[in-house]
Amino acid sequence: MTKVPTITLNNGVEMPRLGFGVWQVSDEEAVRAVTTAVEAGYRSIDTAAAYENETGTGQAVAASGVPREELFLTTKLWNNDHGYDNALRAFDASLARLGTDYVDLYLIHWPVPRRDTYVDTWRALEKILAEGRARAIGVSNFLPAHLDRLADETSVVPAVNQIELHPQLQQAEARAAHRRLGVVTEAWSPLGQGKGLLTVPAVAAVARKHDRTPAQVVLRWHLQSGHVAIPKSVTPSRIRENIDIFGFELDDEDLAAFAALDEGRRLGPDPAEFG
Ligand code: NAD
Repeated sequence: MTKVPTITLNNGVEMPRLGFGVWQVSDEEAVRAVTTAVEAGYRSIDTAAAYENETGTGQAVAASGVPREELFLTTKLWNNDHGYDNALRAFDASLARLGTDYVDLYLIHWPVPRRDTYVDTWRALEKILAEGRARAIGVSNFLPAHLDRLADETSVVPAVNQIELHPQLQQAEARAAHRRLGVVTEAWSPLGQGKGLLTVPAVAAVARKHDRTPAQVVLRWHLQSGHVAIPKSVTPSRIRENIDIFGFELDDEDLAAFAALDEGRRLGPDPAEFG
């Protein structure tokens, strides 16, 4: 079974460099998909209160037989739970649904800058971290200005920023800000949601060259670019295919082909506006 390498977060916690995402998966499907993923070797699972499948995810994890300390569970605080007290309550509810007494990573899902509540919300996450109920805390969809504000006004630097990132949206500016602040970049929609990206001729050519699939070479690009990636699938063969990426390496020519694919176009919402 594949063993996934880890990256060290800014508080020393080790996080698998490849995880399994469960957005748009029903609670029932999550039980099956997460069970298959853990059997295939994934140890990191990315859910969120908004996905409404924390219960199924938690059930699969509990039934997997893998000791809790060998798993890395991420969940996220939804936009209508911003604010200090709301965030503490939302976290308790997530833990209850997951059926665990701690998460490995707790994220603010979106900054919702229009409401200007993310700093207070972050202070609640700092308390959760101090209590040991999350081993690490981070954010998602934060722009560099939001990260700078947290750095100026609070004590803990986010361990992770989970952002939309794939070869057609390479996010150079965000990644530079993360490097400057010591924040790990985690890529959501790493396969471009399985839409156009996997049929781009340059991606198909790299895949043919390595006798791999387009999804595998895209995930390999993430790894070699230093991101954490969390591909999603509910299809068992694809779940296994997406973790089978540790037996080959992209060369400079392949990386140059990927570098040329950046279009700076988002599939998801603009974090400056959303929420
Ligand atoms: P993704 O890029 O992982 O693409 C998933 C889709 O690609 C699948 O539904 C399937 O259609 C296709 N696919 C998967 N494996 C394939 C394979 N081997 N070959 C061909 N097609 C394949 O998209 P995603 O689900 O949007 O993102 C992954 C995870 O990121 C989510 O499940 C979620 O955990 C997280 N996410 C977070 C946010 C956020 O705001 N923080 C937003 C979106 C997603």
